[in-house]
Amino acid sequence: MKRCRYRIGRIIFCILLLVVIVVGVILFINRDKTSKEDLNIKNIIDSMQKEEAKLDKVRIYGTHLNFSGELNKRIYLDNVDDAKIIFKNINDGKDIKVDIEYDVNREGHLTFYTSDKINEGIDLEGLSIGNYIITLKLSEKNYNTNKNDINYYKIINDDDTKKFTYYTITKNDKNNKITINNYNKNIQEKKYSYMKVDIEDTKLPSNVYDITIDPGHGGLDGGAVVDGYSEKDITLEYGLLLKEKLEELGLKVKLTRDGTNEEELDIYDMYGDNGRAVIPNKVKSKYAFSIHLNSAEYDLNTGGVEIYVPNNTNVDLARLLVQNIVECANTNYSPSSAYKIEDGLYLRTFSYYDIEASNEQARKDGYEPYDLTTDTTYYFFIRETGGLNTNAYVDGRNPLYEKNKYYNSPIGVESYLVELGFMVSDSDLNNIINNKDGYVDAFVKTMEEYLNKYE
Ligand SMILES: [Zn+2]
Repeated sequence: MKRCRYRIGRIIFCILLLVVIVVGVILFINRDKTSKEDLNIKNIIDSMQKEEAKLDKVRIYGTHLNFSGELNKRIYLDNVDDAKIIFKNINDGKDIKVDIEYDVNREGHLTFYTSDKINEGIDLEGLSIGNYIITLKLSEKNYNTNKNDINYYKIINDDDTKKFTYYTITKNDKNNKITINNYNKNIQEKKYSYMKVDIEDTKLPSNVYDITIDPGHGGLDGGAVVDGYSEKDITLEYGLLLKEKLEELGLKVKLTRDGTNEEELDIYDMYGDNGRAVIPNKVKSKYAFSIHLNSAEYDLNTGGVEIYVPNNTNVDLARLLVQNIVECANTNYSPSSAYKIEDGLYLRTFSYYDIEASNEQARKDGYEPYDLTTDTTYYFFIRETGGLNTNAYVDGRNPLYEKNKYYNSPIGVESYLVELGFMVSDSDLNNIINNKDGYVDAFVKTMEEYLNKYE
């Protein structure tokens, strides 16, 4: 009995000793890993030129990161053979190269930007897992050696927002989390500041979604009414069906309304916490589609589909969607020519007349007029979900509307307004009511095709 207890004591002692050793080894490895990463950061930065580039504008719109900046060094444009942004991999040397446009400004400094379109630039969906330091790489002519020097410059984010968190769109049940941030760190008694991108695989938080669908109108706002059909009911049916079918594709879909609290919907509460212009940002969705039916009353020989796009964007996604709707729903492009940029695609920004009307309203209601230009996107759903990218402006000065918490956000949702067809066109209305699967299939096919480019 005594002997046995003695043996148990020895076993417990051995187990405890083992635990202490394992914990010790884990701590040692982690300590070693941290310092190794710091050492790599130090080596990368020490090997770079002493001048640094500062980013003056950093934005995310939809799935893309876009920035512009300036290198604080006098340079002759003729001496620059090539300029690229390089995400230098801190751990294994697998760098990411990004093409940029560049020029030299009046002070003789190199200026650069990733794209002049808000939904282009660095595709966050296509980046590989890893930890990177953002650098500017120049190939500069050296007249002494008659060869090109490859020089790296550190990049610092000098814009108001320094830290960005982005979740990639769900693919095969997987997501990456991307964190972009400025760091100041003491490494071996020396101070290092740098901009770093960390990409890791993650489980999507419960309050983050891939796509938002906004069934247009609702509550007291019925939208257009024709032959006893009301726009808000049809768009809701579409919203519910789209959610179901896009979820089958593996996407996480948020609806701005699902019919459950219809009588509580306040038509002026578009910018409150549960307002339709705010939800897409609140759930960090990458894309948002607002579903409507056209209510124009003029005579039409044919109906047809229209997609309104944000200003200053690449329209590949919208073009794919409108083509798929025409094909899958057996409809046609809208015959309407106002604001048309190509078949089925429309872009409406504020006209001088619209600006004057808005200013007049502000004077009448006693608030400072908004700072509008003819580049400002007209439709609130597209504009207010895009934050700084799309000149969102509902900042609370107009007492009729709550302040849009995201009006000055550097992160925006890529949003589209889809007019499925004309309610006044018999063939359109009939098709929209009886051929829902056709329209919905077009959305599913579009997202499937568009997101497949990452495979
Ligand atoms: Zn509508």
